[in-house]
Amino acid sequence: MVVAKFGGSSLSDGENWRRVLNIVKEGDRQAVVVSAPGARFVGDEKVTDLLFKYASSDKEQKETVWQKVADRYVDIANFFGIDFSSVLEETKLKLTGASVPYVVSRGEYLSARLFSLLSGKKFIDAARVVKFDEKGEIAQRLTYQLIEQSVLQSGQNAVMGGFYGSDKEDNIVLFERGGSDVSGAIVAAAVNAEKYENWTDVSGVFCCDPRIVLNPVFVKCLSFFQMKILALLGARVLHPQTIYPTVKKSIPINVKSIYHPDEDGTWILPTTKKRGDVVGITAKKVVSVEQIEFKTPLTSPTPLLSIITPAFCRAVFDEETFDATKITGDGVLTTTHATLISVVYDGKKNYCPTIKKALEKTGLPANVICDEHGLAACLTAPDKTAEALRTVYKALE
Ligand code: ASP
Repeated sequence: MVVAKFGGSSLSDGENWRRVLNIVKEGDRQAVVVSAPGARFVGDEKVTDLLFKYASSDKEQKETVWQKVADRYVDIANFFGIDFSSVLEETKLKLTGASVPYVVSRGEYLSARLFSLLSGKKFIDAARVVKFDEKGEIAQRLTYQLIEQSVLQSGQNAVMGGFYGSDKEDNIVLFERGGSDVSGAIVAAAVNAEKYENWTDVSGVFCCDPRIVLNPVFVKCLSFFQMKILALLGARVLHPQTIYPTVKKSIPINVKSIYHPDEDGTWILPTTKKRGDVVGITAKKVVSVEQIEFKTPLTSPTPLLSIITPAFCRAVFDEETFDATKITGDGVLTTTHATLISVVYDGKKNYCPTIKKALEKTGLPANVICDEHGLAACLTAPDKTAEALRTVYKALE
């Protein structure tokens, strides 16, 4: 079975819904997971953002905000000449006194209801099948069982909203932002899908952010592990947690564009051939205590910093590289004044000297460290991020 997840940008307006419905029909994609409609143009508000706004608005404002949400679905329904007003009305009535997660989850809920009407697929309410435990984690066995049953009952012809589920008491629980990717992966794992397609508005994964580097190299294939590292280090591809459900069952992930459905996209596989290729150059503001902490005592003559991602990429920096740092509690360091530039690559090549030389030539800090398992990293000032990314990209091209 194929599980296909469509993100907010691929469901932003009627035209895109038409593309998505064709993709689902033509490719016989049995189980579909949908996001709430995303932005249609620069500056447009995503439905999820509007719903967060609704939740924090006063009574009068709520009316205006809800109207904006409803209009998004009405526009799409009108595009196909169908009437969606009763579902919208019924949804609105249930918002009074509802919790924030309930309100916010209605974006994905309404997308799935509308998709069901338009495609004939059976609607599965994620609140009934995606169950969270007391710790706020997915109750995996129960969730997989419930999803498998529902998908089978639908005759393998189902649509579910991503991004939410519910706890033991049936209260709605949200995933982190961007979490529909994870919902899709959970469905794929639950039904033992042959592949998990993640459809978006770009052709797949690029080696570097195309808004910064002109025509960056397209990455045809990368490993689950590399994908997770890239997501953690700032690549805006999939939610980092997408990997967990699929990795356990070795389900390949295929990132594809709704604008070029015939292109192969990017494959994320259990392992890849080690050819020494660079698969990603990322930038991430260093602010989170999860990523950076002191690994050596603060009293050490040269305090060292480590990136805390999986044990393999314990990269070390000299503290000198930071210009503004704050040390909290247990030697944990936070800073809002540095960007971490990372290079993720296949194999054991040592890219350090090349990166270092290029940065030095440009007059940028060149305190580069390399890990023998496929990570090189350096810190730079936030206002030099684009310059550093371009320099590193060019040096490795
Ligand atoms: N709609 C949610 C968000 O904007 C979840 C998602 O799209 O994955 O974060």
